[in-house]
Amino acid sequence: MWARRLSPRLSCQTRRSPRAGRLVNPVPVARGCDIQVSGKLGTMPAKSFLQLRREVTESPFTAYPSGGKALLGSPKRLDNCRHGYGLEVRDATGQTTCAYCGESLVDDYRHWLLVAVDHVVPSSEGKRLRIPRQFIGDFINLVLCCSGCNGFGNRYHVADEPPSEWTLEDFVALRDRIFAERYRLIAARREGEQAFYEKSWRP
Ligand SMILES: [Zn+2]
Repeated sequence: MWARRLSPRLSCQTRRSPRAGRLVNPVPVARGCDIQVSGKLGTMPAKSFLQLRREVTESPFTAYPSGGKALLGSPKRLDNCRHGYGLEVRDATGQTTCAYCGESLVDDYRHWLLVAVDHVVPSSEGKRLRIPRQFIGDFINLVLCCSGCNGFGNRYHVADEPPSEWTLEDFVALRDRIFAERYRLIAARREGEQAFYEKSWRP
């Protein structure tokens, strides 16, 4: 059963781009979450505060080979997420939790049914900004996530002017910034949906 998170308190840390020396978009940092475990379908051990904070504050890419900064190749089995490219993302990156909400996607069958793969820099934006397809389709631009989070953040528009020629370093910087922004947006959407659920659906 899902652990419900009530009112996660997010703050933002502003950081400076080491390359350009300018302020870049804020990175969301969870100060703490109240956790409530409930449900009729079963129980899941409550996660400790430190476990949960680690899950929701770290970029998933730091755990990828080469810190997610070197190309890893792209999925080959594109016809089915759970049987194909989702499994390939897990094997290439070691990721097993939703990149946005931190829930395990492998600890039981019901969670596994929610497995989705998200392009952090969306494919449509990659095409518009003339980012090399090799970068957009690489494992370093893919994260596992739950179908709920995947539906919350898939209309993302990049406002930046693209460089005349993309380097891998440019792309990784853009990916990290977009991930942080989408993480914040998806957390807000989840909170709004939870309020609707509490009001309209909860038995
Ligand atoms: Zn999720």
